[in-house]
Amino acid sequence: MKGYTGKLLRVNLSSGKVATEELSEELKRDFLGGRGFAVKLLWDEVKHVDPLSENNKIIFSTGPLTGQALPSAGKMVIASKSPLTGGYGDGNIGTMAAIHLRRAGYDVLIVEGKSPKPCYLLIEDGSVKIADASDLWGKSTFETEDILQGRHGKNTGILDIGPGGENQVRFAVVMSQKGRAGGRPGMGAVMGSKNLKAVVVKGTGTIPAADPNKLRELGKKGYDEIKAKDKYDWWIGQGTMQAFDWCNENSCLPTYNYREGVFEHSKGMDGEVVIKTKVDRKGCPLCNMQCGNIIEDSAGLRSELDYENVGMLGPNIGLKDLRQVALLNRMADEWGLDTISLGSCIGFLMEASEKGLIPEKVSWGDFEAAQKLIVDIGKGEGLGKLVFCGVRSASEIIGKGSHRWAMQVKGLEISAYNCHACPGMALSFATSPIGAHHKDAWVISWEISTDRFSYNKEKVQKVIELQRIRGGFFESATVCRLPWVEVSFGLQSYPEYLEAITGNAYRWEDFYQIGDRIYNLMRAYWIREKGTWSRQMDYPPDRWFEEPHSQGKMKGVKLDRGKYDQMLSLYYELRGWDQNGVPTIDAFEKTGLKGVSKELIGRNG
Ligand code: SF4
Repeated sequence: MKGYTGKLLRVNLSSGKVATEELSEELKRDFLGGRGFAVKLLWDEVKHVDPLSENNKIIFSTGPLTGQALPSAGKMVIASKSPLTGGYGDGNIGTMAAIHLRRAGYDVLIVEGKSPKPCYLLIEDGSVKIADASDLWGKSTFETEDILQGRHGKNTGILDIGPGGENQVRFAVVMSQKGRAGGRPGMGAVMGSKNLKAVVVKGTGTIPAADPNKLRELGKKGYDEIKAKDKYDWWIGQGTMQAFDWCNENSCLPTYNYREGVFEHSKGMDGEVVIKTKVDRKGCPLCNMQCGNIIEDSAGLRSELDYENVGMLGPNIGLKDLRQVALLNRMADEWGLDTISLGSCIGFLMEASEKGLIPEKVSWGDFEAAQKLIVDIGKGEGLGKLVFCGVRSASEIIGKGSHRWAMQVKGLEISAYNCHACPGMALSFATSPIGAHHKDAWVISWEISTDRFSYNKEKVQKVIELQRIRGGFFESATVCRLPWVEVSFGLQSYPEYLEAITGNAYRWEDFYQIGDRIYNLMRAYWIREKGTWSRQMDYPPDRWFEEPHSQGKMKGVKLDRGKYDQMLSLYYELRGWDQNGVPTIDAFEKTGLKGVSKELIGRNG
């Protein structure tokens, strides 16, 4: 099939062996790229391994849209067996490294084994070296990028980890371009476990396309259309921070470890404040919707803010000063820690302290304590040790019912939306294929604007539809979903792009089928690797069922467990999964995954 380089680069850090392999036509046809490639490769190659052992592999995977001159197409997916959840883990990241990898002639990079000493990969077109990184080990992600750019030039794609990843904090991420982050379920820790500090890529080739002239024309039209959208200027002003005020108004801002959905200090840190405070904006390559808001933090340094990191490091820990939030965010980026999980861990510790479950005093909104906690978590010292493996693990250590307010699903901390009064979004978090993340089905906006309190079939169908589009198509194509989500850029453009790239005609039904295949395989991966499985894995935390909001217009509201249960049953039925959430043989076969059911046969009959 056209439009792919057709090559996979495999580097074994234990043996030093480097190999180039062909990607099969079936892989391209059936899994499209990005997440699709990653889950198929993990399914085939990474079975029953310790995620932090040299037997795990980390996959850097692009899609057919990656690197083409198309709106927001500068993305790649980083995937591995997750050390945070024990299941399938991935994240997308906007980075020049994605574009350079394809220009160097590869669609996919797999790194396996473990280097005997700190190293980084240097890929320059066909040349691949494992270079010494002893001088980089211990350095922040920002310093690391500066040094590597100084050494290898500005026109370089760099993916790197901070000390958090080196020390294998289970929610360490991979960073790029001083603010882009990817791989929430511990992809940075997997790199750290391999002594892999960074991947540096320089490619000078041309990314293939079946009809380059047509593609150029479509790309220009796409960029122009996005700029002409009514919501474009508003988006450029605030980016995802436009969600902050909206969440507060609708009682879904994560506040005091998701106890509440409204924050009494929200006006001091909302999108309007960001507009007045920002000094610059930043974003991913090939994007004309640059959504990173750069503000000066309380130490006068640049920090890149979006809604998730402000929500989690602001209201969720009771911190009301935006510049202080920005400083915590910059620290997280420098240490290479996921800001969502970090905010959840700090909020969890503050609540544990308030309840007297830990001897240390860590009060809500205590900025100095939060700074110290980030360093302690990054090093795995002091109180940081308790949340080093996330809030699920911390609640198992503390006990005393703390699992009820450890805000996670399947081990991954929940993104910044409180769902006491949003059953559809709760279902979306609970069935997200990497643990609680918003990227697959951000149904909350649709839910609040339609029938917020219902647990009906339409809502379940909407969650599945969004999972197909966002989690199936966008993650595999691989391209940012935000032009569609935020400024209503038309979905009809994407089959046109794929046709100009591959030469094949696509309909959205084809993407849905690919999405369902990917979803079934991600679910199978979880079940195989976890060994045990039950529908309890698809539940949000007890807090949302048991403790109603005490403030705001949703005062007194909480989720209804019985109705949620019915909604989950319907979700399984519509997906063709059994009532434990295991895909049936029929579901596997309908999505062309015949061999997969054999590996799970003892489980689903
Ligand atoms: S909209 Fe934001 S996240 Fe998406 S590609 Fe552009 S800068 Fe990156």
